[in-house]
Amino acid sequence: MDGAPVKEPSFRESVDLMFNRAVALMDLPPGLEDKIRVCNSTYTVRFGVKLRGQIHTFTGYRSVHSEHMEPVKGGIRYSLGVNQDEVEALAALMTYKCALVETPFGGSKGGLCIDPREYDEDELERITRRFAYELAKRDLINPSQNVPAPDMGTGEREMAWIADQYARMNTTDINARACVTGKPVNAGGIQGRVEATGRGVQYALQEFFRHPDDLAEAGLSGTLDGKKVIVQGLGNVGYHAAKFLSEEDGARIIGVIERDGALLDEDGLNIEEVRNWIVQHGGVTGYPNAQRIEAGAVLLEHPCDILIPAALEGVINISNADRIKAPLIIEAANGPVTAGADEVLRKKGTVIIPDMYANAGGVTVSYFEWVKNLSHIRFGRMQRRQEESRHQLIVDELERLSRDTGVGWTLSPGFKEQYLRGAGELELVRSGLDDTMRGAYQAMHAKWRSRDDVTDLRTAAYIVAIERVAASYRAKGL
Ligand code: GLU
Repeated sequence: MDGAPVKEPSFRESVDLMFNRAVALMDLPPGLEDKIRVCNSTYTVRFGVKLRGQIHTFTGYRSVHSEHMEPVKGGIRYSLGVNQDEVEALAALMTYKCALVETPFGGSKGGLCIDPREYDEDELERITRRFAYELAKRDLINPSQNVPAPDMGTGEREMAWIADQYARMNTTDINARACVTGKPVNAGGIQGRVEATGRGVQYALQEFFRHPDDLAEAGLSGTLDGKKVIVQGLGNVGYHAAKFLSEEDGARIIGVIERDGALLDEDGLNIEEVRNWIVQHGGVTGYPNAQRIEAGAVLLEHPCDILIPAALEGVINISNADRIKAPLIIEAANGPVTAGADEVLRKKGTVIIPDMYANAGGVTVSYFEWVKNLSHIRFGRMQRRQEESRHQLIVDELERLSRDTGVGWTLSPGFKEQYLRGAGELELVRSGLDDTMRGAYQAMHAKWRSRDDVTDLRTAAYIVAIERVAASYRAKGL
């Protein structure tokens, strides 16, 4: 190194660089590559809201990357880091993500440049409703054209306000509820949407661990049980991923990195306890049952089996990539590894499960919610009892056979209880999500393993996604 600072590409450039890497290995018709890469449109709005006796001006964006399928889909984030470059990069990722997990949407993303912690609930409601009004009147919120969802800094509450605002503006639209996903269940949402992205990270890792050849690439073996995990960001996604991996798969969450520092415990942290502490105290400072590290980001470099960046983009970059020790990184956030870091890590042999796959659980369950809203019926409502009575028939018959033949078998109570229970909405959502995550992984895996020139999962993911977007353009005659 000559000491000159190495320039990191912007998030938008990072996404394009990764896209370019993949299309260089593809044989797309002339011009199509450009058509897919470019962002179709970005709408910028500046609007005023009267708060605390004066008018405050806010800047928001809704970017539409690709309309090869409609509606277009993607979250709305509230953060001071929001800008056009970021929203466009995130919209592009949504296009590829939706194609990879086969949700029938184009890609979009929105953002409001605001720190939501600076406003109380009433103020946030007024700001959100005004932003929603600005977008809805331009069909940038619309059940058949553009369907937002939660993202960083937003959640069920904001989605309920947006849905209500849209319904007020479209009083005769019977499908109004499908204008946004991630709503509370009592306002047209679906069971399992809040946990969906974290749950998807768990299913993604479970599927990765079903492929011994892929595990070997990362120098890992065995199961998730006992694996050391570090999670950066214990927000909705990081919390659910850490919770399910530790409680259900036996993984040991040895580190948690938050805004105000990090926690380390080689024996494994109690995620529920840490999360409660953060909710009550606003950060990890003062948490008594672990070692606290002031400069939290250094924990990204701590030895572990699996690193889960689940917060901001660009946290793994050229300034720290060569010191990352985890052999496996799963990108629960969007864009946590920059293109520069990606190259360093690939050369080191680090396996990266890419964002467009790893965090696709959210949009997958959003798809189920949108379908539920359009069909106006809860999943499982028609079948559940019928399924239970058919299972009851088998159990009765088995018990009769055992009695009549005198073999004296008895079905264990646990089996009976589990087998007899018909699937409700939550079970169906989880089953649909698991199936989606397995299917998408297998598509990436097949690309990775069948071609010598595809040497990493991200490139494989891009190729699968771009092939599908290209096929849909071809079908339209473009
Ligand atoms: N904001 C989430 C994402 O980045 C969810 C998007 C959605 O459900 O439409 O994937």
